[in-house]
Amino acid sequence: MTTFQPSRSHALACMKNFVPLMGQSYTSKRNYDLGTGNHNFVSQLSPYVRRRLITEQEVVQAASQAHGLEGAEKFIQEVFWRSYFKGWLERRPGIWNSYVQGVHEDLEEVNSDPNMEARLARAESGETGITCFDAWANELTETGYLHNHSRMWFASIWIFTLHLPWRLGADFFYRHLLDGDPASNTLGWRWVAGLHTRGKPYEAKAWNIAKFTNNKFTPPEGEIASDIQSLDALEPEGLPALQPLRKPSVPNRELPSALLITEEDCHIETFLPEMLNICSSRSLVSSLLRSPRPVADHVRLFEAKALSDTASRLKVDATQMECLDPMILASWAKEAGAKQIVTAYVPEGPLRDWLRKAEPALQEAEIPLCEWQRDWDANIWPSATAGFFKVKQKIPSILSSLEIF
Ligand SMILES: Cc1cc2nc3c(=O)[nH]c(=O)nc-3n(C[C@H](O)[C@H](O)[C@H](O)COP(=O)(O)OP(=O)(O)OC[C@H]3O[C@@H](n4cnc5c(N)ncnc54)[C@H](O)[C@@H]3O)c2cc1C
Repeated sequence: MTTFQPSRSHALACMKNFVPLMGQSYTSKRNYDLGTGNHNFVSQLSPYVRRRLITEQEVVQAASQAHGLEGAEKFIQEVFWRSYFKGWLERRPGIWNSYVQGVHEDLEEVNSDPNMEARLARAESGETGITCFDAWANELTETGYLHNHSRMWFASIWIFTLHLPWRLGADFFYRHLLDGDPASNTLGWRWVAGLHTRGKPYEAKAWNIAKFTNNKFTPPEGEIASDIQSLDALEPEGLPALQPLRKPSVPNRELPSALLITEEDCHIETFLPEMLNICSSRSLVSSLLRSPRPVADHVRLFEAKALSDTASRLKVDATQMECLDPMILASWAKEAGAKQIVTAYVPEGPLRDWLRKAEPALQEAEIPLCEWQRDWDANIWPSATAGFFKVKQKIPSILSSLEIF
């Protein structure tokens, strides 16, 4: 059962309700997880922000207008974490590729090891006997959401107490989280494992869990591993070198265009140029690409409805097509008489991988795939080269150059 409703109007209403809590309340209480139905100190806006049913810019603007930059500092910083991770992965696409390949390898290992297969099944179905962990596994699969602190505790217990492969934990999250995002999820797990801030893993501690769940969970001594070791020895070669940011092809307004709507941006009316000559529209359903394993129904339904909501706001008839055979893109555009496909920027992740597979047929048909990039991303991503601190320091100047504050 999920209470999230995939429409922009619902997202705006949720944001409006939470604006009064984006200041002092968020600063002092955001780390408390009081369980399903009681996530009152955090916004729960992530399924909407992830698809840009509402944008990062809109939530940051609302926070800063209501509380000022200082009053809303913590909330704004958390939103910037999202953009930092997105930019960081754009600069190091090899990290995404090695995650995808690693999930396949880990699954092969599980298939040949009945003991690990059974331990994995118990963790995913909330039957490990670790009360807090089992409750979070169930909350995730039932609601599609977990509080940030519980995501950190859960990932830490998965890796260091249960000794399960971190990538299969990330895959479990990605298949069930409504806000599942290739950058925030992969890099969130890597951060817990000590692979992002290298050599500094995140240790879930019993006292911390008890304090920030208001004693809902009080893990007994010894239940959760202490004195943990970072996983960075698994990657002795270190991080791959920084890549230049990808420069997308810009749409030509004169040409007949096929409009492609994806869950990467469900508010494209803000930057859809007027007078663009659109001859056909389609929505691309991509959440099935999240994993080689089945993706939760609530995730697929949420995406399908978010895409319908977007098409109806744009007043276009955008039939949904699934990301199956990548040839469908070129066939659709050719049939429609389009000379280019236009879409919002698609960052690193499964959909970008799928579009790469679609490129040869598009090139043969001489139909370029053109992308709009938001100023928000273009302003933040160049600083996402190392740790978050570099981005954090620039928040005031970034907000000022975007004329937000
Ligand atoms: C292991 C792990 C996996 C994660 N996987 C995802 C994921 O797949 N998708 C995702 O959106 N977030 C992910 N996060 C980050 C964070 O947990 C969620 O963004 C947050 O819990 C969403 O809840 P909220 O909207 O109530 O957040 P709020 O606290 O209200 O924050 C407001 C917004 O800021 C952004 N945000 C907040 N914290 C973070 C953070 N640490 N990193 C990146 N963005 C942040 C989100 O867009 C969020 O909606 C993960 C964190 C961890 C530790």
